Amino acid sequence: MTQPLLERSFPSTLDALVAEFGEKPGSRLEAWVFADVASRRAAEAELKAKGVEARIRSAFKPLVHAILEDIAADGVASLRVAYPQHPGCLPGRFLAEAYPLSALLPGAEVSFSAGTETPFTYELSLTDTHGHTEDLRVFAPNYEHTDAVGEPQVSPTGWLRATMPDGTSRDERLETDVERLFAAAVAAAAEWQPPEGAFNQLRVAATLPWPDQPLGVGDEAIRYAEALHEDLYFSLLEVFQTQSGLSLGDRTLQPGQIAPAVTVAPGPARVRVSVRALSDAEPDGAAENLADPQAPLPPAQIAAELAKVGGAAFSAATVSGRSVLARHVAGSDAAVMISGGQHANEPSGIVGALRAAQALAARPGAHFTVHPLENPDGYALYRELIALSPGQMLHGARYTALGDDLEYRATEPRYESAIRDRARQLCAPNFHINLHGYPAHEWSRPFTGYVPRGFAMWMLPRGLFFILRHHSAWSGAAERLIDKVTRRVGAALPEVLELTQRQRKLSHGHAGEPGTRVVNGFCCQISVDDAMPTPLKLTTEYPDESLRGPAFALACKAQEETTLAAYDAYQKIVG
Ligand SMILES: [Zn+2]
Repeated sequence: MTQPLLERSFPSTLDALVAEFGEKPGSRLEAWVFADVASRRAAEAELKAKGVEARIRSAFKPLVHAILEDIAADGVASLRVAYPQHPGCLPGRFLAEAYPLSALLPGAEVSFSAGTETPFTYELSLTDTHGHTEDLRVFAPNYEHTDAVGEPQVSPTGWLRATMPDGTSRDERLETDVERLFAAAVAAAAEWQPPEGAFNQLRVAATLPWPDQPLGVGDEAIRYAEALHEDLYFSLLEVFQTQSGLSLGDRTLQPGQIAPAVTVAPGPARVRVSVRALSDAEPDGAAENLADPQAPLPPAQIAAELAKVGGAAFSAATVSGRSVLARHVAGSDAAVMISGGQHANEPSGIVGALRAAQALAARPGAHFTVHPLENPDGYALYRELIALSPGQMLHGARYTALGDDLEYRATEPRYESAIRDRARQLCAPNFHINLHGYPAHEWSRPFTGYVPRGFAMWMLPRGLFFILRHHSAWSGAAERLIDKVTRRVGAALPEVLELTQRQRKLSHGHAGEPGTRVVNGFCCQISVDDAMPTPLKLTTEYPDESLRGPAFALACKAQEETTLAAYDAYQKIVG
């Protein structure tokens, strides 16, 4: 066992405030920290017992917390919100951070406008049901800094405003426990030098004491542990991309498996950064009902359901020694490639691929390859993390144990990517159905500018979303295909169309439209890509990450229905 790169706990910022101001009775303070409401109220009560008037608010999503904690929402008839802007931020950054405000005030008319007189402050004009109007301000403490890769950022931070009994006062940034943990963990992990030619897991295990707080709107919640996981994972990828001279967001880098594991546990915030050998142990777990799964399937069940498809088995091996399993069913139809689990934290496509493949295999003439779990190393980490950190989107399990995206891999050895190479050798499919997911709730990077760099389009759920790429000669086929698929999925699954409309409406109010086309109610991104090995590729994006229960079962149904609709539409188009 090698020594950890970092093992440290970070004294609670709330405890430090209580200790410092508890000795100054008669002082008054306002503070903004990252902490759940129960911890903040407990610190306020402790200070009050020591003669200190304190109000402690959330530094994260301050406008949402103001509505939850300070404003009586039921009497609001209308709310006009002017949100701050800053030259160092995307124009809609503070509008995005106010999500899902409009859904928290369902009876009120909520409108937004850009620009405020006071920096980093929301200006609210609230009219109650009796017609009385009140103007309010909500401070959103932020600071300008340079991030782990030297880029300028404006990020949420703690803040302190205090007046002492002697009349002196303070109004300053308060670097909080979790901000210090984040900076220390990234700095320690950045020192890691992967041994040449060997791959390991860079483990960043952390605990924070603040439980998730559901918001009562879809899958939305305040999740501090998840936000830390996301910012650690993408910050470290960016650090290694930069060290390798690659551009930010490059998906070919192979640093090894970067694995944040952030859980909720009482006590001070803690972190341990260490390096582990990759393991090929399979995580187990109870099998689900394939027809109505309430949770992602264990790997043994995926293998067993794939075997039921029949046809000829083929496989590829991962760097950890796991197998990517696939089947080829030969027939008189035009061949189609069906894949799932490229990104292992997107679990509904795995079920959709299996169910569609079993249904197709029962038909005469069906002709396809299916590889429902293309990234088993990522999925093993995913299975481990969903047990530790339920409800999180877990992008740390997205890529392979090499740390790259298997679709972008252009080097030898091919590992997981060999499964698609073999599928092309077996039946030369001209159509690829690639089943993916994206976050089912807001995705943020609170310590690095809030908006996930390179993924702004995916930071809020917009329902079932289609990406269609095609060779230029296939543009007519692409148009016919997307029309048929969206029409059939919307008709067969009206609840998916309804979810899509609802999420699109709520997201639109906080992040605009992503600049995509809308076809039969669904966002569709259609583009020419003559470099693709397959001339036509339909990628599904269902907001499935973190879903469980009936919402997960519906996601699986949407993936299955889309696959069958796309298979059938393709046969008609080329037939
Ligand atoms: Zn994906």
